[in-house]
Formats: sequence, structure tokens, C-alpha cells
Amino acid sequence: MKDFDYIIIGGGCAGLSLAYELEIKKKLKNKTLAIIDNRTNYNRDKTWSFWKVNPHNFDDCVIKNWKDFSINIPNKTNYVSCARTPYQSINSGLFYKKIFNRLEKNQNIKFLKTINDINVSKSLIFNSLHNIKPNKKDLWQHFAGFEIEVEKKNLDSEIMNLMDFDCEQKNSVHFFYTLPYSKSRALVETTWLSNMMDETEKNYEDQLRNYIEKNLNIKNYKILYEEQGKIPLFHPTTVKNNNEISIGTAGGMTRLSTGYTFLNIQEHSKYICNNLEKINKVKKFEIKKKYKFLDKIFLKVLSKHPQRMPEIFYDMFTANNEKVINFLSNKSSVLEDISIILKMPKLLFLRELI
Ligand SMILES: Cc1cc2nc3c(=O)[nH]c(=O)nc-3n(C[C@H](O)[C@H](O)[C@H](O)COP(=O)(O)OP(=O)(O)OC[C@H]3O[C@@H](n4cnc5c(N)ncnc54)[C@H](O)[C@@H]3O)c2cc1C
Repeated sequence: MKDFDYIIIGGGCAGLSLAYELEIKKKLKNKTLAIIDNRTNYNRDKTWSFWKVNPHNFDDCVIKNWKDFSINIPNKTNYVSCARTPYQSINSGLFYKKIFNRLEKNQNIKFLKTINDINVSKSLIFNSLHNIKPNKKDLWQHFAGFEIEVEKKNLDSEIMNLMDFDCEQKNSVHFFYTLPYSKSRALVETTWLSNMMDETEKNYEDQLRNYIEKNLNIKNYKILYEEQGKIPLFHPTTVKNNNEISIGTAGGMTRLSTGYTFLNIQEHSKYICNNLEKINKVKKFEIKKKYKFLDKIFLKVLSKHPQRMPEIFYDMFTANNEKVINFLSNKSSVLEDISIILKMPKLLFLRELI
């Protein structure tokens, strides 16, 4: 049996972000770390996007920054500026490569496929695994995307489209999301917020082809990369031992109203690293309670009144843009929170609150 000072279970976004932070802050000079992951490869599998409200370690993995975005419902478009906190997209393939290049140089770090040969009793464990049992009450953000190359180099790469609700909603919330990386390349995603019980929501390929051809009016294109995933809009329950800390999605780092997780993972990694020696004594790092409370009401309204949501999202972005971005990125002041709440249909939200 091998002993390690630290064990990271799950070498995905959270596990590798934490390992990288520990390494660059020189916490692994005299300590050993095992990273356990059963993957067969570290090819690009995700695109992580967010408003850059905080500095992070991965600016060199950014595909593109946008200072403007749009959101639309049928017959209405709102153009929004985010120059102070640009919207960024990270290529997970570059992220994995950068982290492995750095970690592989440290002999104290071992990459393993299973935990079976490790004596875990004396280690501090950071665990990003979770076990979700299907429950039809749970809401998910589920989506699929094509990164396309268009024959005519005529995309407007200066503005991205955060949400286009001009599409079939069924009894859920559905929108398309378009990230134009250049005049000829864009990631187009179809996204649903639902309990995933309606199988017809999952014919993603047809939805994407139809949207690209009919809405974006692009007839000749090549698919360069495909991505598919689902993000739980609830916090998975985890069973933990005393020497174990949950990280990533398992650690509650997802903002439930939006699915944004990446920057919370980066903040959590920094917090762990700064408090490593006393991590079991300091306050647990979590998304602030006010956001958890407001998101819970928001999701109740969403599941009971999905047909109202396109308008609600649209109206939210007609408030002061910076306030909305701060709110969705967990950085808003109380005054900013109030101004967002005032933009919501009051009766609907009050009913769910009561
Ligand atoms: C396709 C996709 C796109 C996303 N886009 C965004 C975005 O744009 N912005 C944003 O903020 N968030 C986004 N998210 C949400 C979130 O940022 C990601 O899910 C992020 O990867 C979560 O990090 P994690 O470490 O918790 O999980 P993961 O990155 O999934 O890492 C978990 C790791 O555990 C490993 N593993 C699983 N089971 C085992 C096992 N039994 N034994 C050993 N290893 C195991 C896996 O191989 C994986 O490497 C996205 C999620 C998905 C799925």
C-alpha cells in the first residue's frame, strides 16, 4: 500500500485546477499527491465559458474574449456590453495540456487509475466524484454543441449570443447559444433547462442542424468538434469521511440558476491552497447563502412556469448590465441584488417564496 499526503479523486476541472494551484504555490515541494482518474484520454471535451469577474490561472487557454453579447426572444433583441468583465471561453484540451506539462515535472505527483493500492487513512482527500440517483423532480441544464467552420467567412465574431429563445420550447426552457470564435468558426449549442424526462428534447443533432441552417442561415459548413453534457441544477449529495473535502460540482460549486461552475472552482482551489494547513478548521467554502436562497426561488418559478422564462431572462438583462453580470457571477452587492429582484415578476416570485 502506498501513502500520500494528499489525494485528489477525479482529475477533471476541479481536481486539476486544485493540483495546479497547489503546484504553483509550491505546496507540493515536500508533500506527495496522487491524482486518481479512470479516463483513457485528455482530449478536449468541454468549453468552459463565463464572465471574467476574477483573475484565474488559465488566460492562455482562452479561445476568445467578447466585450458584447446579445439575448433575444421572438421579435426582440437586447444588446449588452460587458467590456469590464469580458465573456471568455476556455478550451479544455489546452487546459489539460497546460496542467499536465507543469505537474509531470514534479516527482511528488503520481497519476493513478484507481485508489485501490493506496492507504487513504492518513491522507487529506479532495473528492470530485458524486453519485446522482435519477429523480424526476431534479432540474438539469442539458445541451449539445457543434463547433462549425463556415464556408463564407462572414460571422460577426465581435458579439456572442448568450440566449436565443426564438425556438421551440415544448414544456421546458430552451435556447440556443452561439460563440463566434472568428469570421469562419463558431460554437453553436442547443440548451434545455428541464427534468430531462421528455426524450424528444434530446434529438440535439436535428435541433442544431435546423438552427444553423434556418436561423443562422448557414448552408455550407463543416463540423470541427462536438460537445454534449448535462449540469445538475441541484447540489448532489455526497458521503464524506472526516479527512475528505468535496470539490467541483460535487462540492456545490455550481451556481444553480445558471450552471456556471468554472470560476467558482478556481476560487475554491485558491481558498483550499491558502488554508491548506488548517483546512478542516476554517469555514467551509461555499456559494453565498443569499444566492442559494434566490436561486431556489428562481428554479421553483422556472419549473412551474417555464413558458414565462424567456421573457424573465430577457427583462433581467434590460437592468443595468454590470449589476446582472455581478449577480449571475456571485459578486453583487445587496443594492444590486435588490435592483435585479425588482426586475422579476413580483407576484410570481412572491407566491413561490411563500
Ligand atoms: C460539456 C460541459 C460544458 C460545461 N460548460 C461550462 C461553462 O461553459 N461554464 C461553466 O462555468 N461551467 C460549465 N460546465 C460545468 C462545470 O464547469 C463542469 O462540469 C466542470 O467540468 C466540473 O468540474 P468537476 O471537476 O466537478 O467535474 P469533471 O470535470 O467532470 O471531473 C470529474 C473527473 O472525475 C473522473 N471520474 C469520474 N468517475 C470516476 C471514477 N469512478 N474513478 C476515477 N475518476 C472518475 C472523470 O474522468 C473526470 O475527469 C460544463 C459542464 C459540461 C459537462
